[in-house]
Amino acid sequence: MRVDVVGITEFRLPDDVPLELDAEGPEALAEFAGRACYESWSKPNPATATNAGYLRHVIEVGHLSVLEHAQVTVYIRGISRSLTHELIRHRHFSYSQLSQRHIPEGEYVVPEPVASDPELAAQFTAATEQAHAAYEELMTQIESKLAQVDSTARRKRARQAAQTLLPGARSTDIVVSGNLRAWRQFIAVHGTDQADDEIRELAVVLLQRLREVAGNAFGDFEISTLPDGREIASSALVTEG
Ligand SMILES: Cc1cc2nc3c(=O)[nH]c(=O)nc-3n(C[C@H](O)[C@H](O)[C@H](O)COP(=O)(O)OP(=O)(O)OC[C@H]3O[C@@H](n4cnc5c(N)ncnc54)[C@H](O)[C@@H]3O)c2cc1C
Repeated sequence: MRVDVVGITEFRLPDDVPLELDAEGPEALAEFAGRACYESWSKPNPATATNAGYLRHVIEVGHLSVLEHAQVTVYIRGISRSLTHELIRHRHFSYSQLSQRHIPEGEYVVPEPVASDPELAAQFTAATEQAHAAYEELMTQIESKLAQVDSTARRKRARQAAQTLLPGARSTDIVVSGNLRAWRQFIAVHGTDQADDEIRELAVVLLQRLREVAGNAFGDFEISTLPDGREIASSALVTEG
């Protein structure tokens, strides 16, 4: 899988607000929103004088709504449609997903316990090839049945119906936008040992990318490696999920 950050919130400090910040973008906006609640522009407490310290405090006391102002958009490629079915259950994100009807060609994502076993991988490939052959065959038959329909509409309807035969392992791409609080919740829920391997891997990769653009909002999260080599992401401070 590949995850790229393609959009982040820009922050603009009003010229009449006497606030000095050591961060920018999403992190600065979250701190600004928190300080705006009390007009606490001066920073008498050293523990919260930095953006890292301030956001850690916000997370510790659960003042998480300030994290909702800042948004990050990612472009996720090469994940299975089974995974996106779970991903889109999260109601605070916005999504734009590759149309399987318009882009019918594609790869399959081989799940980890299968990928590392040559025999299982061969079985898996044979099953996906069989499913794809059935898809092609059904599409051809539907198209000939709809011979009287206009050719573009015919192809669309045939693909729409035939794609129902394609396996959940089919690779897909999706653009996802969410605020920092929603991203934190997603990582907390899916970064654990209990989550499916693919979505857990996604949660860990997302944490790495989000840290690159808003690290202070994820400063309490840690990535650790289990004895079997799988990585998990967790935070001792996350109280919701
Ligand atoms: C290990 C695991 C196994 C799962 N297994 C299944 C399964 O077998 N079947 C299945 O259908 N799903 C399953 N799910 C999906 C799960 O039930 C959720 O739909 C999914 O994780 C989205 O999380 P959410 O609903 O908490 O959060 P989001 O939609 O991301 O919302 C975030 C938070 O906002 C709040 N919130 C959002 N909407 C409401 C609302 N309407 N009312 C009150 N509070 C709200 C809640 O606090 C929620 O946690 C599983 C998830 C996990 C992590």
